Amino acid sequence: MAVDSALSSPLGPPACEKDAKALQFIEEMTRNADSVQEKVLAEILTRNANTEYLQDFKLGGATDRDYFKSKIPVVGYEDLQPYIQRIANGDRSPILSSHPISEFLTSSGTSGGERKLMPTIQEEWMRRQKLYSLLMPVMNLSVPDLDKGKGLYFLFIKAETKTPSGLVARPVLTGYYKSDQFKNRPYDPYLVYTSPDEAILCADSFQSMYTQMLCGLLMREQVLRMGAVFASGLLRAIRFLQLNWKQLAEDIRKGILNPKVTDPSIRNRMSQILKPNPDLADFIIKECDQGENWDRIITRLWPNTKYLDVIVTGAMAQYIPTLDYYSGGIPLACTMYASSECYFGLNLKPMCKPSEVSYTIMPNMGYFEFLPHDPVNPLQFSRDYPPKLVDLADVEVGKEYELIITTYAGFCRYRVGDILRVTGFHNSAPQFKFIRRKNVLLSIDSDKTDEAELQKGIDNASELLREFETSVVEYTSYADTKTIPGHYVIYWELLVKDPDNSPSHEVLNKCCLAIEESLNSVYRQGRVADNSIGPLEIRVVKNGTFEELMDYAISRGASINQYKVPRCVSFPPIMELLDSRVVSKHFSPSPPHWTPERRC
Ligand code: AMP
Repeated sequence: MAVDSALSSPLGPPACEKDAKALQFIEEMTRNADSVQEKVLAEILTRNANTEYLQDFKLGGATDRDYFKSKIPVVGYEDLQPYIQRIANGDRSPILSSHPISEFLTSSGTSGGERKLMPTIQEEWMRRQKLYSLLMPVMNLSVPDLDKGKGLYFLFIKAETKTPSGLVARPVLTGYYKSDQFKNRPYDPYLVYTSPDEAILCADSFQSMYTQMLCGLLMREQVLRMGAVFASGLLRAIRFLQLNWKQLAEDIRKGILNPKVTDPSIRNRMSQILKPNPDLADFIIKECDQGENWDRIITRLWPNTKYLDVIVTGAMAQYIPTLDYYSGGIPLACTMYASSECYFGLNLKPMCKPSEVSYTIMPNMGYFEFLPHDPVNPLQFSRDYPPKLVDLADVEVGKEYELIITTYAGFCRYRVGDILRVTGFHNSAPQFKFIRRKNVLLSIDSDKTDEAELQKGIDNASELLREFETSVVEYTSYADTKTIPGHYVIYWELLVKDPDNSPSHEVLNKCCLAIEESLNSVYRQGRVADNSIGPLEIRVVKNGTFEELMDYAISRGASINQYKVPRCVSFPPIMELLDSRVVSKHFSPSPPHWTPERRC
């Protein structure tokens, strides 16, 4: 399709007229970042003027930034929880938002061990859909002809629950895949997936993954890009293939779907797609039946894949070497930065190296402020000493900030918990490198375990050691992602008073489970329902190991007075030291308890 030259974009020549409009939208938003932000805030404050929250802080219907900043405090989830709980319990008055709360999005961030509940409103899906609609036009600038084939994307829904008042609570992507925006999306040649919607919308993770993998194999030559939300998800799919390729090849040979896939809508859909193909079955067996050698399996099975569409920024960076191994190093594209409470922005150079990924926050998505972050001298503030926040258009290149958002759904000056560094600007919109999420010690998939949660786990497990007069002298932890799925490793140094009564292997296994039982529901869901996290491991180390660790740190310049045992390690020489002192290894004997229902 010829593109009207009036619609050409500074980002590059658009692939089609629809793309041209999307790129033009990005230009408009980023050129006018500050005025768009002003407008967004005024819109949010006008529509929510009568909410209890804004009235509590006596905003009096004002919409200007300075007044807003002087009246409304910067808050965290715990500050909003009483309001959120009332909504969950059925109070339909305009508490945070004048628009009715349509559902709760359950974040992978937790509070009190349970997923945080983020109220959302119906129209938010349209805003989020708009951000999604910008991704392919940007990708098409770097990768041509993506309309000539399909995307193999592993997309899943997860368990949902209801709040006491009957509002649905579910992860944001489950909400999105079940939304009319997704289900009734118009045909777009750039957005053709191998996975049928019936498979994406199947709540049984085995049946869903099996069907998605099967369709990916059946259409292997048409696959031009492959993805999952996070890198860990794509690796889980590869692991699934390792465990199931024989059966998948068998289905393809005979044209008969594995009877373990029982979902009637999937079976019905697959009856139209699956036909006997012995040549393809032979090919799959030849490529997969190579023992441990799964080097470049992605490009061997899907030779036309131009890139992997997965988030490898933040905690997911740990998976880059494994992805490179399976793909032979094809580009990894990080396209988007988002959260349950608000979608933020996109990467305007999606084919850049993972270490260079920067996200441009789109000023139309919400009102964004930035709390200067200095890791060495963290700011202390309270209601009496409010912090000075910087507006989106005023952040400075090279500086780090914590992201604070005000959303259409009614969160005002809310701390997301992400630390970002400004790397540059596109027009007047800043671009950010994702540095890290605050207070996350361990993460394998979407789980986020902080130091306090791990400490609680260690305390609970230590109870089991009491009758053996044994205590945990020191500990540290490590997210081991060398195997798929990855798992938490806890290094323990024990003090055993009576060697004749030391805890047995079984007791130490139970300690692993006791730690898991203490961890938050996102972790336990990963263990139980998603199989995205393997059994927790305790490695008992020789007495004196942690002193050696301290000696090592001091030899590298740490101050002896200020030395604290790191509660999480990943530096290879330290790992080597710890692993060389291991005397025994123990694993959780069974998955911890988890149900979709919340404990509180
Ligand atoms: P959730 O609330 O479960 O949707 O998780 C949202 C969080 O995931 C964000 O606040 C970030 O910490 C993290 N996240 C989302 N997108 C990215 C990204 N592109 N790179 C790194 N971390 C991300």
